[in-house]
Amino acid sequence: MRQLKADVIVVAGGAAGLAAAITAAEQGASVIVLEKANTTGGCANMAMGLLGVETKMQRNRLIDITREGAFTKFMDYTHWRADARLVRDYIYKSADTIEWLENMGVEFALPSKYFPGSEATWHIIMPKTGNPGLRAAATMIKLMTERAEELGVKIYLETPVKRIIKKDGAVVGVVAGDKDGEIEAFGGAVIIATGGFGDNPDFIKEYTEYEWGKDLFSYRIPGLTGDGIQMAWEVGAAKDTMAMELVFFAPNTGGYAPIELPFRQPNLLVNLEGERFMNEQIIENPVFSVNAITRQKNRVAFSIIDESIIKYYEKNGLDLINVVTSTMDMSYFKQELEAMKNGSDVLFIGDSIEELAEKTGINVENLKKTIASYNMAYDSRDELFNKDPKFLKPIKGPKYYALKFAPSAYGSLGGIKINHKTEVLDAEGNLIPGLYAAGTDANSVCDPDYVFVLPGNSLGFAVNSGRIAGESAVHYLREI
Ligand SMILES: Cc1cc2nc3c(=O)[nH]c(=O)nc-3n(C[C@H](O)[C@H](O)[C@H](O)COP(=O)(O)OP(=O)(O)OC[C@H]3O[C@@H](n4cnc5c(N)ncnc54)[C@H](O)[C@@H]3O)c2cc1C
Repeated sequence: MRQLKADVIVVAGGAAGLAAAITAAEQGASVIVLEKANTTGGCANMAMGLLGVETKMQRNRLIDITREGAFTKFMDYTHWRADARLVRDYIYKSADTIEWLENMGVEFALPSKYFPGSEATWHIIMPKTGNPGLRAAATMIKLMTERAEELGVKIYLETPVKRIIKKDGAVVGVVAGDKDGEIEAFGGAVIIATGGFGDNPDFIKEYTEYEWGKDLFSYRIPGLTGDGIQMAWEVGAAKDTMAMELVFFAPNTGGYAPIELPFRQPNLLVNLEGERFMNEQIIENPVFSVNAITRQKNRVAFSIIDESIIKYYEKNGLDLINVVTSTMDMSYFKQELEAMKNGSDVLFIGDSIEELAEKTGINVENLKKTIASYNMAYDSRDELFNKDPKFLKPIKGPKYYALKFAPSAYGSLGGIKINHKTEVLDAEGNLIPGLYAAGTDANSVCDPDYVFVLPGNSLGFAVNSGRIAGESAVHYLREI
């Protein structure tokens, strides 16, 4: 068996792993990164930006969110289930992290809200193309990879780690494999950052309340199969809260598909019983909305609009926009509508309410009543949820359109229990010496829900917890 040796062994070269590797190397440690895929970045290559609080960019734009305010918001949102020290350290570090990335050459387009009512904490990365959008963070990953290599970090691609080596109670290395066979990598500290279990339907079924493909249609970034979580448990790490980073999409359309545009608006939303179940204004908050959808029969909901609503948006633009939808327009919607109108399991079109109900499976009598009272609300007020009258667009036909929405997720959350220094804890709350975890594998701070009111939170947690893990590992090495 081949052997490698370094001060710090980082399991995976995603956002958290690279942040940990660079940080440890900057402090003088020799570092090896073992990465399963044929490239670095994992899920982070899909992302747009990360959380920062009290950054120079925010101050220059008079965005006055404070670290104290963000911390309070975070803890209130999670009802103090999150580890307050970890949340504090993450948020208080975030501005420095943005600067740290800028020093590596990462440019940011803007700090943004995700939706009205959220905070402008989402620092969107300016990609090489100059057009910020989905996958902008791939540019950040490229620069982080270059920075790591410049510091002498050795990155081994296509080298999945299989297990952790523990000796005399302390973690001292890992066993990995590549095309030439097994490798033992020994180091004073091991940092796990394998990105969670978003690509592992068995894990999802066992550890969350969802079943992939049945009532969950989440992103599955290849290779994120919970390896690091499993390995950490095998050496005694305690299980921590495990959940999905829930949002909602039309199933199997890829998320934020153009077909969703007019449906992802505060229009009529009903369940299979044909009844409204939320004030559709909250549709702008994907977490609140998915929580409401999850409570409905079969965990589905249907957004219903008619021709006049489509025409309204074509003429006036959408009622609610966020950073993602602001770069899309209704012409792409028309194209997708044409492509999907003759057969789709998420888009339904009817010449009458009865036909729409039959195609979707929605209770026809209730749907007729709901649409009638919804249209009446347009002339008076929404007695049920008191929706803002400006969003009450009547549904009168002649053509009726429905889009099915169901729970989705960007990935998973949590698995390995850590403290605020990212040290891994066992079931009794004792440290497992030499073992650290960061990023999605250890993201239990978003409990019970992803804290979308402070956007950029999951990539933000990944990079910041990665940095904390790098610092803690070096500190530990110095002590031993
Ligand atoms: C479409 C999409 C958009 C997103 N946009 C945003 C956004 O704008 N803002 C935000 O905050 N978050 C966003 N996220 C979430 C964000 O990308 C993740 O939170 C972040 O990448 C997590 O970082 P990580 O290091 O924990 O995992 P990753 O970045 O996914 O890295 C994990 C790495 O582990 C490797 N790996 C797995 N198993 C092994 C093994 N056994 N051995 C070695 N390596 C292994 C993988 O190959 C991968 O490279 C988005 C996610 C998706 C899917």
